[in-house]
Amino acid sequence: MNPIELNKRQEDILQIVKENGPITGEHIAERLSLTRATLRPDLAILTMAGFLDARPRVGYFYVGKKTSVTLIDNIHDLKVKDFHSGPVVVPETMTVYDAICFMFAEDVGTLFVVDKNELLTGVLSRKDLLRTSIGTQDLNKIPVHIIMTRMPNISYCEKSDSLVEAANKLIEREVDSLPVVELQEGGLKIVGRLTKTTITRAFLFLTQHDE
Ligand code: ADP
Repeated sequence: MNPIELNKRQEDILQIVKENGPITGEHIAERLSLTRATLRPDLAILTMAGFLDARPRVGYFYVGKKTSVTLIDNIHDLKVKDFHSGPVVVPETMTVYDAICFMFAEDVGTLFVVDKNELLTGVLSRKDLLRTSIGTQDLNKIPVHIIMTRMPNISYCEKSDSLVEAANKLIEREVDSLPVVELQEGGLKIVGRLTKTTITRAFLFLTQHDE
């Protein structure tokens, strides 16, 4: 793993904290003639990388470089189970028309399709529904199982997976969403969904570690 390379401003921050710590983010910003908001990402990186520690109402103090604690380590600790959203599923027999209404009502971009036993059989994306809508068929007559992407071609993740593994699947398969599943005899039970929004939320979580 490569050590984190610090930029000039981060080196300056380290110097200020070494000489004046504990010191608040506000005061570091004042010394550099910058706003607290501008410094926020740098302070987050220095804290996550283990150079600085932060105590509420006390401020930042220098702890030196802990080689075992890096931003990369922290990212790999993030788990699907801590960030995923709830499952949004429809039955295979639902019509395409009703699936479109349901997608709007639920305010999601992907629906997961289940069989009678509530096991995963397919995925419906916005464009799957759009593609069918620009044809001439009667959307009230077509069940979603005709147009969905089917098992076993569905990429999924489990609660215990790392977010990095899940993010890799989103990128490799070029999809917006993965069902979070539990492996069961006979199939996959859907327990949640993991989307590009989930990854964005986790990304923000990392930057908030300097509060
Ligand atoms: P959109 O089609 O609206 O851009 P996606 O990029 O998520 O949304 O979907 C692209 C295609 O991949 C669609 O046909 C969809 O059915 C399928 N798909 C979506 N999610 C998955 C998944 N987790 N595994 C396999 N296929 C998927």
